Amino acid sequence: MTNFLLSVVIPIYNEEQTVDMLLKRLTRVLKGGNYELLFVDDGSGDNTAAVIKNAAKNNKQIKLVSFSRNFGHQMALACGYAYAKGDAVVSMDADLQDPPEIIPQMIEKWQTGAQIVYAKREKRDVDGFIKKITAQLFYRFINFLSDTTIPNDVGDFRLLDKEIVSFLNRLPEHSRFLRGLVAWGGYREDYVYFNREKRVAGATHYTLSRMVNFALEGITSFSIKPLRLASYLGFTAGAVGFFGIIYALLGKIFLPSHWVTGWTALFVGIMFLGGIQLITIGIIGEYVGKIYQEVQHRPRFLVREKVNL
Ligand code: UDP
Ligand code: MG
Repeated sequence: MTNFLLSVVIPIYNEEQTVDMLLKRLTRVLKGGNYELLFVDDGSGDNTAAVIKNAAKNNKQIKLVSFSRNFGHQMALACGYAYAKGDAVVSMDADLQDPPEIIPQMIEKWQTGAQIVYAKREKRDVDGFIKKITAQLFYRFINFLSDTTIPNDVGDFRLLDKEIVSFLNRLPEHSRFLRGLVAWGGYREDYVYFNREKRVAGATHYTLSRMVNFALEGITSFSIKPLRLASYLGFTAGAVGFFGIIYALLGKIFLPSHWVTGWTALFVGIMFLGGIQLITIGIIGEYVGKIYQEVQHRPRFLVREKVNL
């Protein structure tokens, strides 16, 4: 583990309690190796940055980039990739749900030719029922919609060869749905398996609304099929309406005595069509919003401070 440089990128947000434990376990695993631990502080409001800076004083292998505010996990990861100098770059969570102990296995797979080594969750016992179900549904749905297959049960715990990191850094788009982008490249991939542990301290930052946003980001970044779906909905509703007209005309001409005017059908029809129209506008709106964000060309994140970099 000395003939190459390993970067470990760790997005971190309000995790002051986990840093010491994380550093202890990481340095034990990587002892003797040539490595850098690159923390990206995503605008923490607690002492996270101070704890890391303190550790970085005596150890130049510990590096820190601090954001001016919270830009989100994916942007913190993107920033880590931008600063990482390693021949191989591992990304992992700061809360020790991703065990550092499997990093040597990932390195082995990389050295035998894989350019992406995913850490796949064998069991998700610690995740709640809702999280498991929503995650399953999300991957099913996104893989159904998108031409890029995003591997199931794989988070952002992975090793990337520097070629892929530089490919990611060169991508011009603002939006970063990294697990999709990594898969999109089509590089040689391999897996190692682990059991996802409990957080050592604190609580998840991914609330339901954040997960929904993340899912929408993923879908709109990798598929325009929802737009096509909108057209299909329009055609279907139009066809139903057309047959409705024929039915009504025929009824009026041939069965005038049996013909009863119904408010229900009218009401249901209006509600149904109104619903379809709003959904369609919403779908288009998602993509318009995406275009808007891209043309703004704002920086993905703002750096306030750098340590040992
Ligand atoms: N994180 C971050 N910015 C955020 C939210 C989370 O950098 O806005 C970090 C967090 O500190 C952790 C990782 O991203 O290292 C994963 O977050 P979390 O554990 O809350 O998500 P979960 O594991 O529950 O999906
Ligand atoms: Mg976590």
